[in-house]
Amino acid sequence: MGLGHISHDVCRVLGVNGSCRWRSLDRIFAMRWPAALALVVLIACLDASAPATHGMVTFVIDDGNTTDYTVKKPIFDAAGVVAVSAVISSRLVLSNAQLLAMQADGWEIASHSRRHRDETVLTEAQLEDEIGGAKAELERMGLTVTTHVYPYGRFNDLVESVVRRHYRAGVTGGGGPNVIPLVNRFEIRRHMFGYQYTRADQNTLAFHQRLVDRAKHRGLWLVFELHEVDSTDVVMLSQLLDYIRRQSLPVVTIRQGLSMTR
Ligand SMILES: [Zn+2]
Repeated sequence: MGLGHISHDVCRVLGVNGSCRWRSLDRIFAMRWPAALALVVLIACLDASAPATHGMVTFVIDDGNTTDYTVKKPIFDAAGVVAVSAVISSRLVLSNAQLLAMQADGWEIASHSRRHRDETVLTEAQLEDEIGGAKAELERMGLTVTTHVYPYGRFNDLVESVVRRHYRAGVTGGGGPNVIPLVNRFEIRRHMFGYQYTRADQNTLAFHQRLVDRAKHRGLWLVFELHEVDSTDVVMLSQLLDYIRRQSLPVVTIRQGLSMTR
């Protein structure tokens, strides 16, 4: 138990917070020793029963394939959680009705640009069209769009500056889990899940469970990146969601995650 925990729990016990924290420690030091001992025991009990520093988990599915609705959504539905579908606004495969139904069920629909071009080679005017244009197209359909997922995970300072004009968050590819609070909410990093683009030895239930364990114990935000899934991935996704539930980690959208990291 660190000093931070002690002062935090002292504050809980004494019903004080903020600047009163260190004055609370002074109060304990001024107590007669039996009272001080009782208080320390009480604090230790509170600390043992308090949840560990928890992280959270997000699933961002790229490219807006039909299977987001027909295959993946039923798996998330069965687990009672939601995910993020990042769609290419000028190449929509999911129907308007499917996208609106996903949003109505709590899913976040994110932008994955208008045409899925490598944004690092575009001019600022082209970026405005790809990035701002995607948001405008999707919002005309009645979707709320606050996250941009960089095509191919590629971005640079100019790309990020255009994304900052239109969105609350930018999601990259790869890079590992995210420290909370975020260093930069326009560079949210991910871990790959599924047979596509993932090394075979890193697409096992045990590997993904270790990532979840690390997120839980270090209080990290673990964001998975998904594309298409095969029959093995389908079973593994269901098992992974069950494992995350048993670890009591929240599964959130990017928008929800941002609100929890502030
Ligand atoms: Zn993509």
